[in-house]
Amino acid sequence: MKQPRAFKISMAAALSAALFATVLPANPALATAPASAVSVPQAQVLAVDSGLQIAAKKIQRNPSKDDVFVNKKYPLSPVKYAPKTVAVKGTNVRLRSSAAKAYTKMVKAAAKDGVKIRAVSGYRSYNRQAELFNYYSRIYGKSYASRISAVPGTSEHQTGLAIDVGNANGACGLQACFANTPVGKWVGKNAHKYGFIMRYQKGQESVTGYAYEPWHFRYLGTSLAKSVKNSGAKSLEAYYGVSGKKSDSAPKKSKGTAQTNANLNMRTGAGTGNRVLLTIPRGKTVQLTGSKKSGWYQVRYSSKTGWVSGKYLKNVSMPSAPKKDTKKSTPQKNTSNAKSAKTTANLNMRTGAGTSNRIVLTIPQGKKVAIRGAKKSGWYPVKYAGKNGWVSGTYLSSFSSSGTAPKATKPKTSKSSSKKTIANLNMRTGVGTSKRVILTIPKGKTVTVRGAKKSGWYPVKYAGKNGWVSGKYLR
Ligand SMILES: [Zn+2]
Repeated sequence: MKQPRAFKISMAAALSAALFATVLPANPALATAPASAVSVPQAQVLAVDSGLQIAAKKIQRNPSKDDVFVNKKYPLSPVKYAPKTVAVKGTNVRLRSSAAKAYTKMVKAAAKDGVKIRAVSGYRSYNRQAELFNYYSRIYGKSYASRISAVPGTSEHQTGLAIDVGNANGACGLQACFANTPVGKWVGKNAHKYGFIMRYQKGQESVTGYAYEPWHFRYLGTSLAKSVKNSGAKSLEAYYGVSGKKSDSAPKKSKGTAQTNANLNMRTGAGTGNRVLLTIPRGKTVQLTGSKKSGWYQVRYSSKTGWVSGKYLKNVSMPSAPKKDTKKSTPQKNTSNAKSAKTTANLNMRTGAGTSNRIVLTIPQGKKVAIRGAKKSGWYPVKYAGKNGWVSGTYLSSFSSSGTAPKATKPKTSKSSSKKTIANLNMRTGVGTSKRVILTIPKGKTVTVRGAKKSGWYPVKYAGKNGWVSGKYLR
């Protein structure tokens, strides 16, 4: 998050010294009885994908604990909580002793690598935070102030477990460019080894409620810090599966949206091999673009577009199919024995003839599809990208009966046979266990085999749905 120019000047000139580096005495009088840890029920979903394991996690609300969880939705309780703090060695920045010790250890390790970390700001009392927040609110207004500073009682600095760090020469102090300075790079890479995590990562504002702060590190203890780092979660909120945004509206079931039912990685493409853009917390609403591929959905969230696994989406309501009200000029004769056609719009391929059938994938506009058989109620059985399915004839043109189309596997309608399941058997969207499960066929049921076996899997029909099952469990 870029800071406005005015911010840089006032920060550097007025605030760095005056507000951040001031000695802040602990106020033990405010310390009161700790709240007990609250257990947050976890969904039965344990793994989002190979990159992010979600285990049952307890959210610590006891402010006296090193792993206390604090954000805009989880204020400190009591709100004026004040920990015992000590001065960090060689500075007037104060932290809780556990964090101070770990910080000193980290500074020494960095020094060995020739990197000099400077402590900029540590513990801030409720009252100090109130001053700071009011100061920002006066300058920038409450809305912007709340993106860069915390409402008193919701700051990690009030726990005595958070520290803002900088370079000894002040380069890029409290600015996003700090990430590319020697200290920024070093702490980004190593802080977790000393029990600290970069709390407000880039692109996570809608999750954490805070702009990117590559200088703000939160002490959690080494075991939790490493666990968070290794989980792949891009925020502590994502790690716990909660939100940091105060204005968190209840999920709505509206057209073109879905809800996440786990902390879910949004990736650059459909599949876990693609780069993670951000982690969407559980229970968030995402916008669906209408594109779907191998069980993955293209979604928009937090002004980013990427792909998420459909396994962890609920209340999925795809946006309406592209409506083309232009009259067809393409001749549609001889379509009965056509071998191929072209799509005139981004076109959903479905498991059957009709929009009530599940979408197998979306074929981009202008692509050639192979027609596998006879038209049914205006829908064609087609093959595209190695998948079989049905598409609406409304969005097909340039029907051709020449053999230029990719050879489609002829549906063996004449040889359609039936088999019995010998176990509860997952019917999937394609061949292989990586494909999405459509439904589970109970043991002992009869399925219709729709075509030829492929790599040991059969295309079958059961309960009105088409899909693939492993031949191992058929007799
Ligand atoms: Zn900070």
